Amino acid sequence: MNRTYNAFDTAKKQFDKIADILDLDTANREFLREPVREFHFSIPVRMDNGKVQVFKGFRVQHNDALGPAKGGIRFHPMETIDTVKASAMWMTWKCSIVDIPLGGAKGGIICDPHNLSLREQERLCRGWVRQMARNIGPLLDIPAPDVMTTGQHMLWMLDEYEVIYGGKYPGAITGKPVGMGGSLGRIEATGYGLIFTVREALREMNIRLEETTASVQGFGNVAQHAIELYNKLGGKVISVSCWDQESSEPRTYRKLSGIDLQELRNITDSFGGIDRNKAIKLGYEDLPGDYWINQDVEILIPAALENSITEENASKISNKVKLIAEGANGPTSSEADKIIQEKGIFLIPDFLANAGGVTCSYFEQVQSNSNYFWSKEEVLSKRDNKMTDAFISVSDLAKKMDLYTRDAAYILAVDRVAKACSNRGWT
Ligand code: NAD
Repeated sequence: MNRTYNAFDTAKKQFDKIADILDLDTANREFLREPVREFHFSIPVRMDNGKVQVFKGFRVQHNDALGPAKGGIRFHPMETIDTVKASAMWMTWKCSIVDIPLGGAKGGIICDPHNLSLREQERLCRGWVRQMARNIGPLLDIPAPDVMTTGQHMLWMLDEYEVIYGGKYPGAITGKPVGMGGSLGRIEATGYGLIFTVREALREMNIRLEETTASVQGFGNVAQHAIELYNKLGGKVISVSCWDQESSEPRTYRKLSGIDLQELRNITDSFGGIDRNKAIKLGYEDLPGDYWINQDVEILIPAALENSITEENASKISNKVKLIAEGANGPTSSEADKIIQEKGIFLIPDFLANAGGVTCSYFEQVQSNSNYFWSKEEVLSKRDNKMTDAFISVSDLAKKMDLYTRDAAYILAVDRVAKACSNRGWT
């Protein structure tokens, strides 16, 4: 990760460009450029050795004009408030683009769960909720899992919230385990949703998905499920990259005949780290972490972290690449965007490509609030409809106004939120 990169600067730059295109009025421009609320707090946690360690936590609510704020909680040792602010803003656009009645938020804790026992993680989750309980809830702001947080973390958080309020509030948090208020289809939601948009984009380009190959950055929740559906539809992934805990650097594992998803899953930890030695034994080429980007494939899927496609490495993208589907949030820098455009690559922007997760979170909230749960088929088909509709509206606008797809998506999303703020009389 480039330490000088600031995700919030990128998010604001993207917003400014769209505000200019939309000729947005000054009040909306000022209001939407910054979060509406921002929380910074310290979480004291009694560690297993009896000592207290203090962790830094954040929650940012960027905008809630369309409905209660919604967004994940990230556990990351290099978490910064600006990454959280950028992610919260992207959540606002994401909920807007798929046309669900929710706003944008994001939270985080500076920590490395690899170094925490399960009991310490539980105390950390409960501590985060104790700090935020007054400002989250089914009608205010609904957290969910994100980088290095799981359904178990969400359940501990919900339990703490319910202890504080003395009632059952399953709609207060999403991403809960199935059977404990979670929705069927949530685990695969983001990865599957991404492939729905890939399927639609390839259809528009008259490319048969079964004849394509892909290279993926990341091997966590989003990447694994994207690969699962892409494989089911007939596509072949030739390389994946992930963080290697032992060497503290990313690695890329390649098999030109196609990676075997299950085989790799069997040697992957719960944080999406593939066991390097076992991968080599299974016949995977062990390559430097950034090699995922220069593979001769039709599709690139950055599904790990922000700022992965930069001015420095975008020129390494093979001429064979036709499509980039952004699974991660903010994986492409503004400079890299220009190179991608020049290369004529079709881009499915992050807040559209990875909106399957929040769409399913919204379905989970609806089900939790009404205490009535749908079948997996119902969830999947409702999500497919939402993602496909959103993709088509973005792609139609891009064609009509001859726009880069990221700009078209932004125009639709920002316009909806700005109108909601004005209609409420806020701006
Ligand atoms: P995850 O923690 O399950 O997986 C992250 C993966 O990225 C792991 O395989 C990790 O090894 C890998 N990784 C970390 N640093 C890397 C590096 N420098 N190079 C290559 N690989 C690296 O996370 P996830 O839930 O799959 O989320 C991935 C991205 O998608 C994040 O940007 C997240 O914000 C975004 N996202 C996730 C969801 C969701 O539902 N999980 C929804 C929308 C967006």
